[in-house]
Amino acid sequence: MAHETTDYVDLRSDTVTKPTPEMREAMAEADVGDDVYMDDPTVNKLQEKAADMLGKEDSLFVPSGTMGNLLALLVHCQRGDEVIVGDQSHIYINEAGGMSALGGIHPRPIANQRDGTLLLDDIRASIQTEDVHHTITRLVCLENTQNVCGGVPLTVEYTREVGRIAKENGLLLHIDGARIFNAAAALDADVKELVQPADSVMFCLSKGLAAPVGSMLAGSKKFIARARHLRKMLGGGMRQAGVLAAAGLISLEKMTGRLKQDHARAKSLYEGLKQVGGVRLDAAPSSNMVYFDLAEHVSSSEDQIVAQMKKRGVLVDWAGPRRFRLVTHYWVDDAGVSKSVGAFADILK
Ligand SMILES: *Cc1c(COP(=O)(O)O)cnc(C)c1O
Repeated sequence: MAHETTDYVDLRSDTVTKPTPEMREAMAEADVGDDVYMDDPTVNKLQEKAADMLGKEDSLFVPSGTMGNLLALLVHCQRGDEVIVGDQSHIYINEAGGMSALGGIHPRPIANQRDGTLLLDDIRASIQTEDVHHTITRLVCLENTQNVCGGVPLTVEYTREVGRIAKENGLLLHIDGARIFNAAAALDADVKELVQPADSVMFCLSKGLAAPVGSMLAGSKKFIARARHLRKMLGGGMRQAGVLAAAGLISLEKMTGRLKQDHARAKSLYEGLKQVGGVRLDAAPSSNMVYFDLAEHVSSSEDQIVAQMKKRGVLVDWAGPRRFRLVTHYWVDDAGVSKSVGAFADILK
C-alpha cells in the first residue's frame, strides 16, 4: 500500500528510513566507477570498511539482504544439501523459498525458542547421519537479532557454542545479521565477536542504518570471490553503485553508533503502551521492536486499527492475527513516540 509518509510517524518497519541529509549530499558527490570491473572506489571503500568492522577478510555490496543470504547459501551448499534453519527465521519464511527454488537446497527447520535461539540439542539432533536415505547437512543459519521472536539478540557465548557444534560436525555457519549492529548495541558487544564463529554474515544497510539500498555479505576472500561470481549470475552486478555505497559508508560511520537511541525509544513506547488498556505486550524490548497482541475485549480488526492510527498520523502494520509489531528507527523521535502512544490510547480506550 502506498502512503504519503511526510509528517507521519512511521512504525511499520526500520526499512522505511529515508536517507539522511548527509547521505544525500555524499550520494550526490560520490566518486564512482564500474563496479562490475571492481572500479568503483566508493564501493571498494565500503567493502573494505564493512569487512574490517566485522573482522572478516572481505565483503561484498549486494542489492538486498535476501540476495546476500541466498548467495551465502549458494556458495556454501550443493544441490541436495541440507541447511538447519530456525522455523521463525527470515531465510525460512520470508525469502520466497529461494534456497530451494534456485539452489536445490533443502531446509531443515527447527524451533526458534522465545529468546530467538535454536536449542543446541535440537541442532545436534538434526544433523543427518551418513546414510543412503539422508541429505547431507552442510550449514547452520542463525538470525541476529531474531525478528519474529521480538528483535532479540543472540549473545556472543551462544553464537560461540553453535560455532563449536558446527565445527565439530564439519558444518559451516552463516549468520543472517540483517540487524547485527542492533544486536551489538543491545548487548554492548563488539560486532566482531558476535560474528567471529561464522563463516559468513549478511547485514542490511537499508534498515536501522538508514541507507536507501543495500546489504553487505562478509566472509573469507575465497567465499566473497565465489559470491561475486554468483551475484553477477543472479543479475546483481551493479555499475556506478558508488552512489549507493556513499550512503552505506555513512551508515557504518555514523549510524551504527546511535542505535541505542532507537532501543531507548522502543522502551519508552513499550512503557507508554503498558498504560494503555487493550494491548497484551510481549516482554520488554531489547532492541528496536515492540510486539503486542490485541486484548480479547478489543473488537476492531487489524485493518481497522491500521486505518484509525493512520487517521491520527501514525503508520503501523499488523504482524499476524490480532498481532502488531512497532519498529523504532532514525526518523522516530521522542515526540513521535508520545504521539503514537496517544493515538493508541485514543482508539483502544
Ligand atoms: C530484512 C531482512 C532480511 C532481508 O533483507 P531485504 O533487504 O529486505 O531483502 C533478511 N533477514 C532479516 C532478519 C531481515 O529482517
